[in-house]
Amino acid sequence: MKWAVEQKSVKMSTSNFCSLPWTQIEIQTDGTYRACCRQVGKQYHNDGEDVLKFPEAGFKEAWNSDSLQELRRKFLNNERPSECANCWKEEAAGIESLRLNMSKKLSDIMFVDPTPELLDLKLGSHCNIKCRICNPFVSSQWTTEAHKETSKQWSYFDKSFVKHKRNDSVITANKEILDHWLPNIKQICVYGGETFMIPPFFELLDMCVDSGHAEHIELIFNTNGTYYKPEVAEKLNKFKMVLFHWSIDDIDERFNYQRHPAKFDKVIENVKLWNNTIDRGIIKNKIWCTVSLLNIAYMPELSEYWDRNLRQYIELLDFGYCHDPLYYNMKILPNHTKEWISEKLTNATSIDIGDWKYATDKSCRTNLDHFEKMTAFMNSEDLNEKHWEDFLEECGRADKYRKEDFASTFPELNRSING
Ligand code: SF4
Repeated sequence: MKWAVEQKSVKMSTSNFCSLPWTQIEIQTDGTYRACCRQVGKQYHNDGEDVLKFPEAGFKEAWNSDSLQELRRKFLNNERPSECANCWKEEAAGIESLRLNMSKKLSDIMFVDPTPELLDLKLGSHCNIKCRICNPFVSSQWTTEAHKETSKQWSYFDKSFVKHKRNDSVITANKEILDHWLPNIKQICVYGGETFMIPPFFELLDMCVDSGHAEHIELIFNTNGTYYKPEVAEKLNKFKMVLFHWSIDDIDERFNYQRHPAKFDKVIENVKLWNNTIDRGIIKNKIWCTVSLLNIAYMPELSEYWDRNLRQYIELLDFGYCHDPLYYNMKILPNHTKEWISEKLTNATSIDIGDWKYATDKSCRTNLDHFEKMTAFMNSEDLNEKHWEDFLEECGRADKYRKEDFASTFPELNRSING
């Protein structure tokens, strides 16, 4: 069997098959379950019953749920499930989707009594920042702001439902099934919230290290870069491989605006501190930049900053896409701004992105390869008329509440938008 982070670009464009429903389970911050982070809606449930949710339903119930069996059936029939729309949209724009990136060959899949090889764990929404493109579902800071304010976020989330989410007992409550699954687990992804603020993350580390299974597990997690915890490094060094996803979407004041109240200089200081503590043979780093309306115009500047200042600490520059909230999706920009951005990205300096084998889209080798896909994605749909007013309203609301200013933080982008 080929291992995901080692394999090169998988070409499966003639088939709709996705292997993740046989190999992975995801728990979200509200305790519901899906096959992966790209699915929209349709959390796992049994026929005629409510959505399965932790703590009432554990990993075992979710893995055996009727809706997961139904999803598997659809893929075996070569259907394109509607809940996988994000993959279909990315592939239509020429982007290597999660489906393509993670897919295994049919012959490598255990169809009878499968046990997961990959765990995608959103262990809680504990977070100390509230990124513009984030939401109350995954950031406790956002929950506080959104509950105080009349935010556009409530077009996406039910206010009565979204509270501070705490899956604090999820590891201990699922210990029995995790003991059964761990020998076969090859990769665990942990996303928050902020990973270094989430208590079950540390329980998970202990479980993997104490059981001896850490040595065959690749651990991947995101961090907003505000924490430096040297005492954790010793445990991380026991894993087969650890991949830090540094959530760095931009530089300097633009970073501070997008990731309020994190400070760019402090994050860069922490990158360097971690670098002095970790075993570089085991621990890998990548910048995980989420490209949105706010930062797409500044991707050349981020690439150049990484190349000049961070390449020696963070070995890969990688990109993902902001789909929701739609009012920060780059597809809503006015056409004349899309043209200006497309030209700026096309004429940017070519920079190799580093150790691409840890990339999500393994077909790209330079920033320009990524920029071509970004502009294709941006230009693949015109959502301006439907969502521009929402952007103006939400951006203006957040600016006022946070005492920030879009126009002076993004002067070139603002000039282009205003013609
Ligand atoms: S097709 Fe995409 S969204 Fe659907 S399960 Fe696979 S990776 Fe997830």
